[in-house]
Formats: sequence, structure tokens, C-alpha cells
Amino acid sequence: MRKNIVAGNWKMNLDLNTGIQIFNEINTLITEEVNGNQEAVVCPPFIHISAFTDAIKPGIKLSLGAQNCHQADAGAFTGEISASMLVSCGVKYVIIGHSERRQYFNETDALLAKKLDAALKNGLTPIFCVGETLEQRNSGIYFDIIREQISSAAFHLPSADFSKLVLAYEPVWAIGTGLTASPEQAQEIHGFIRKQIADKYDQNLADSISILYGGSCNPKNASELFSQPDIDGGLIGGASLKARDFVDIIKAFN
Ligand code: PEP
Repeated sequence: MRKNIVAGNWKMNLDLNTGIQIFNEINTLITEEVNGNQEAVVCPPFIHISAFTDAIKPGIKLSLGAQNCHQADAGAFTGEISASMLVSCGVKYVIIGHSERRQYFNETDALLAKKLDAALKNGLTPIFCVGETLEQRNSGIYFDIIREQISSAAFHLPSADFSKLVLAYEPVWAIGTGLTASPEQAQEIHGFIRKQIADKYDQNLADSISILYGGSCNPKNASELFSQPDIDGGLIGGASLKARDFVDIIKAFN
């Protein structure tokens, strides 16, 4: 049975005190209200991560994630953070290939392949993001784009490593825009992604991979999205900055 996961991507938002306050609120609300087995993840900015390390104790239903990592283990890479540094701060998940990193930091599929390798080698669970732009959707090439993103960055992995990934389908046109993919649109792509994995590896592996949806997911639309057969949770931007909204999204699985 694959895991249901809801991960909050805080991006470059919140000062330290506000972050701690929201993190603690999320933690309390999850402990009091979430009664399923779904996993909740918060991905704060790098500089705040170690402030949350102590809050992550066994039994706590919240895990820590990061928004990126460098592909090298260590070295002269000013301003960068390695996967092993994240692990040393209690981080379990790392977002790789978010569309904002692809767009603003020129991250290519070839680079993302190396980042996936680094994350896996250090024991992090990558949340690997794929998704098409509005132009690509309107021109009907979105299946090709998604197939290419997955195969170029991740299909070099042996099945034992691929099985450790979490995937996220994030249509670029839905991120931070208030335009959510309909449950049918999202399911179509999630089913397509699973089929690509089954064709490359096997059906058992494909059935074991959690595929999250991201793009203007909120407490109102989460249940319908998460009830689709191939949608196993969400990668949440804006709504993860409000404890109540984030936990209500997590509760869409209750
Ligand atoms: C994201 O950035 O991963 C995201 C899904 O953002 P939002 O929920 O704000 O659309």
C-alpha cells in the first residue's frame, strides 16, 4: 500500500519566529485532529531548518523536508547546501525539480538527475516534481513533456532506488495562480505517470510510488483531488503557510 503524503513548501516566506509559531500550530493540530496514517511534511527555508530539528521527535506526525539540495557531497560551492547537511539536521524529504527552480535557476533534467542521485545516496526521500506550462498544455504536448522530464532525470535509477522516490505532478499554470487542475485533469496525468513507471520498471513498483498533486490545492478542493485513484496526496505552497488550512488539507484523507 502506498503512503498518503501532504508536504508544505514554504518557499522563501516567513521569518524565523513566525515559522516556529506556524510549525508548532501545525504540530498541535495534527496531533489532535489527524487520525489517519497520512504523513505530513513541512519544508521551511534552509536557514530555519535546524530550528525545527528538536521538534521532530519519535511519535510526532510531522517530518521535515527541504526545498532543494546541491548535487555534490561537499566542496567549494559558496551558498549551497548538501544532502548530507540536510540529513544531519533531521531532514527526511527534499523537493527536487520544482518548476520555480527549473525556471529561475535554470535547473535542467541532467542536473536534476544528479540531485536525485545525491539525495538518494544520503538517504533522503526526494519529492521529484514534474509539470507542463500553460503553453505546453494548450499546444497538446504535455504528455511528451512529462514523459521526458521523468525519463531524463529519473529513469537512469535502478528499480531499488526509483522505488524510494515520491513524485509530484505540478502543472506550472496551477502553481500560485488559484487555477487548480480539475480532479479529472490531474488523475489523467497521474495515471499516465504511473503507466510510464510500469512500462519502464514494473507494475508492482509503479503501484508502490506515491504521486502527489500540486497547484493551488486548498481545503475546499483537496478531498476531491485526493479521492482520485492515482493521487496520493499533495505538495502545497500558499495554503501551507496557514496552519489551519494546511491541516484541513491533510485531513482530507481522514
Ligand atoms: C508549489 O509551489 O509547489 C505549489 C503547489 O504552490 P501553490 O499551492 O501555492 O499553488
